This record gives sequence, C-alpha cells and structure tokens, in this order.
Amino acid sequence: MLSSYNRDTIFNQYEERTFDLLVIGGGITGSGIALDAATRGLSVGLVEMQDFASGTSSRSTKLIHGGLRYLKNLEIKMVADVGKEREIVYENGPHVTTPEWMILPFYQGGTFGPLMSNIGLLIYDFLARVKRSERRKMLSKEEVLKKVPLLKRDGLKGAGFYVEYKTDDARLTIDVLKKAVEKGARAINYAKVIKLKYNDTGKIIGAIIQDQITGKKLTVHAKKIINATGPWVDTLRDLDNSKHEKTLLLSKGVHIVFSQELFPLEQAIYFDAPDGRMIFAIPRDDKVYVGTTDTKYEGSIAHPTVTQEDKEYLLDIINYIFPKINLNMEDVESSWAGLRPLIAEEGKSLGEISRKDEIIISNSNLISIAGGKLTGYRKMAEDVVDLVVSQLHQEEGIIYSDCTTRNLPISGGEVGGSKGFIKFKQESLEKAKLLGINRSAAEKLIHRYGSNINTIFNIYQEKQNKFDVDDKELIVLAELVYALEFELAYKPIDFFIRRTGALLFDIHWVKEHKDLVINYMAKKLNWTSEEKNIYYKELLTMLEEA
Ligand code: FAD
Repeated sequence: MLSSYNRDTIFNQYEERTFDLLVIGGGITGSGIALDAATRGLSVGLVEMQDFASGTSSRSTKLIHGGLRYLKNLEIKMVADVGKEREIVYENGPHVTTPEWMILPFYQGGTFGPLMSNIGLLIYDFLARVKRSERRKMLSKEEVLKKVPLLKRDGLKGAGFYVEYKTDDARLTIDVLKKAVEKGARAINYAKVIKLKYNDTGKIIGAIIQDQITGKKLTVHAKKIINATGPWVDTLRDLDNSKHEKTLLLSKGVHIVFSQELFPLEQAIYFDAPDGRMIFAIPRDDKVYVGTTDTKYEGSIAHPTVTQEDKEYLLDIINYIFPKINLNMEDVESSWAGLRPLIAEEGKSLGEISRKDEIIISNSNLISIAGGKLTGYRKMAEDVVDLVVSQLHQEEGIIYSDCTTRNLPISGGEVGGSKGFIKFKQESLEKAKLLGINRSAAEKLIHRYGSNINTIFNIYQEKQNKFDVDDKELIVLAELVYALEFELAYKPIDFFIRRTGALLFDIHWVKEHKDLVINYMAKKLNWTSEEKNIYYKELLTMLEEA
C-alpha cells in the first residue's frame, strides 16, 4: 500500500473521489490526524510535499516528554495534557519509544535548588500521572557523580532523577502513518499542494497537488481540509488569503552528535546552561547528542542549517558542564536543525512562548493546526478530528464514531504493550540468531521495526540466497527493500535520514553503504542517469551539512 513501485497509481487515485478529509502535511501532526480520522470511518487523503517526517518531525530532541521546563512558565495544563500522553505513546509503540532515566542536577545559585527540584518533579509526577515505578527520586552529590563522573563538581548539590521517554521521531511518524494507511487512509509523499480550490460561496472544496517527482498536477476534492504543515502553516494560510491576527514565529533548534569514545556519557542529563536555558545530553547507541538552541529564524523553511555559531554555543555549554572533556568543532560527528512553529505572543521571548497547540479556522473553513509537541500528537489529532466530525454531523447529519486511538497500537506496535514487548524482543532475538544476525544489529532492527521485524527477517532470508554480499550489506538491503515496498521511500536521503536515522547517528554507515543503496534504488526505480546523479549529489550535500 505504501510501495514506491506504485507511486504513480497512488498519486492518480487522488483524483478519483471526494475525500471526507484531506490532510496537508505528512509530519507527526498530519499522520496522527489521518490515523484518527481513518479509524472513525472517514475517507482520508494525506499529501506531503517532501518525504514523510522531513519537516520538524525528524528534527526534534526525540523525546516523548511532558516538558518539565514549562513548569517554570507555569504552563500547568500543557504539562498535564502532554505529560499524560507519554504513557499512551509508549504503550502503543513500545518498540520505537523507550523509558530513559534522566538526571536533573542542581547547583549552588542555579534556577532550581533541591527543594524546588523536588517539588517541581513531584508536581510533574502528579500532572503527568507517572506510574509508581517511574516516579522521581532525589540523588545526593555523591550519587550523581557516580552516575555522571564527568559532571562539573563545583557547586553541585545533588540531582533529581526522573523518567522521560526516548524515541525516533521520524520512525514514530512513519509508523503512525502506516497504521493510518492500514485503516484505509491514502498517503503520498512528494505531492505538494500548490493551490486551493473553492466553491461559489468561497468555501474550500479541494486543492491542486503537484507530484514533485514527475511534475504531474491533479485536483483533489474533499469535504474538509486540514492544514497540518507545521512551520509552513502560514504559507498555506497565505494561499488561503487568511493569514490575519495570529501568526507563526519560527524558532530554530540545533542538536550536535558525538561519538561516545570522545564524549563518554552513559546517563541522560537535563541541565541549566550558564544563560539559564535548559539543555539535554542524551546517549544513543554509541553516540551522544546534545541540544538544543532556540533562536529566531527567517531563512528557508525546508533547509534550516546548523551554523558555526550554533555549534560553538553548544560546545561552550558542554565544556562548561563537563569540564574535563574539552570537545571542539572537529569532534562534532553530525548535527541537525529543526524549526519550532510557535504562535507569536506579544511581549514574550522565544523561550517564554507557549508550545501549546492551537486550531485556527478561516472564513473558507481551512482548518489549520499549529504549535504543539511530538508527544501530544494523538490528543491534537483527537481534538481536530472531533471538530471535523461535528461539522460533518451538522452539515450532513452523519454520525462518526468517537476517537479510539488511545488504545490502538501503531504499525510495529502489535506486541502487547510495553510488557509484551519484552517477550517479543526475546523471541525476535532468537530468530535473528538463527538467521546469523548479530545481537547488537538485531536489537537495533527490533526497536526500529517492532512487530514488522518479521517482514524484514523474511526479506533477509530471501536475499541471503540471491545476493553475493556480506551479512552487513544483507541487512542494509533488507531494510532498503522494506523501505521501498512498505514505506514509500523514494530517494536515498529518505532511506538514510527518515527510515534508518543513520545520517544523524551513524554517518560512517551511510558513507560505507551509500553506493550499494543508490545503485539498488536506481535499478529498481528505473532512474535515468541524470536522476541518479541528482539524488547522489543531494545525499553528498546532506553528508557535508551534517
Ligand atoms: P512537520 O513535521 O514540520 O510537518 C509538516 C509537513 O508539512 C512537512 O513535512 C512539510 O513538508 C509539509 N508541507 C508543508 N507545506 C506543504 C504543502 N504545500 N503541501 C504538502 N505538504 C506540505 N516535541 C516533543 O514532543 N519532544 C521533543 O523532544 C521535541 N523536541 C523538539 C526540538 C526541536 C529543535 C524542535 C524544532 C521541535 C521539537 N519538538 C519536540 C516539537 C515537535 O518536533 C513538533 O511539534 C512536531 O514535529 C511538529 O510536527 P508537524 O507535523 O506539525 O510539522
């Protein structure tokens, strides 16, 4: 259903009918909406102008969290709403979301002392309804240093110790979208809305979309249209001539990645920078990533880049809080930048503007949803689809069912929740062993694909007899075949950034396997040599930028 070999057919099918709902944008917000609406019985079409998740939804801090720092701004409701979603996101996709104990150190003269940290975390536990086993603990200075020996000792008083969840934002998005498609939604990437269509009374009834690969255009019709384009929400509102009053403000956030050999941090930590901002340093596989910055952004929305200044800012902070390691510019292995679509608030600095989501309905009835967090995607979808079904009810008398996504596993999440995942992982590791896949590679694959791992294993086994390649390359091929046949990957960067995350966290793997991947894709997707050249150069540019 999401096979790249059927791209043209999928694209052409958009013209055949009037959808109940057209979703513009294939990030986490649009994907969540498509899933919610499809499970309620609406016919849904989703269009994404780049690759799925290639906007903000692959460029976040990759945490499923309630936003502890927002307690500082007294955003109690947002912390409570988003915090409660953590558990739901985790249980519905335990393969792609993992609990991570986080250290919150406090220093003499810092923002939070021991008492405030304790109270803050207690409130957080309460608001986010944190389960007993994951409630906060307080650590003495000695206990903290045992967990993070590299940490600055001067003025250290102790730390809070609490749980957040680590995720792969792009894979989470794709697994939500795959579930939506399984439930009947249609979805296509590289299909851009270039014009909106209205009836005689000025109400929105469709859009003209253009295939960004072939250039072909067609008209899609829909009863309702949701603009879930993240940082592009105002661009779409401009198309709709409805960008009045509330507008977006874009804030750039940068992360940088190090090898754990150079930055031997084994414990996730959330700390105060000298300027009072809060920064994460998170181990992931054999890397550590650190972020983020928060600066006003006015450049190209599709290509926010990491500047020398961004890197220096984060390096200074790292060397301040971990004074023994002395990291420098050459040690940065890769990096990424993302844009927060914030709703501008008069008189507030970027750090103070709320991250809450908001629904804006234009006179033409273009429904825009802006702001929010990755973590809160399911609830945001529920709210906006509630609105759509109530409009449809009023206009057509049709009653759709209530939201059911709270207990609905996403694609790959059919493992019986977090408890079931432990057993599932064990069984899958056994299968991997029989196939000759080493344990660490198998673990990565199981977390990446969850219950879809069996399809990967089948492809692996099938290719084992056909290809004269080593075991490592066989895994690359199995993942690539899966990405092409089940996840609509079309360009090498789709595979290396959004399907595997390798360009962010395993850049050497990309360099090692790029030719294998490009040659296979070129052959299977019938690229001309010119196309092959373009996609190859695009990947090289991304490698340089990272
Ligand atoms: P996007 O992911 O940007 O998706 C919008 C999509 O619309 C894009 O893919 C774009 O190509 C598409 N589009 C635009 N115009 C068109 C068009 N004309 N036609 C078709 N498609 C179009 N949240 C958390 O919960 N946890 C975190 O740790 C976290 N960290 C963050 C760190 C940073 C630095 C940033 C920037 C954000 C972070 N967030 C975090 C917030 C979270 O990432 C965003 O709220 C979320 O990803 C927004 O998703 P979205 O789908 O709304 O937007």
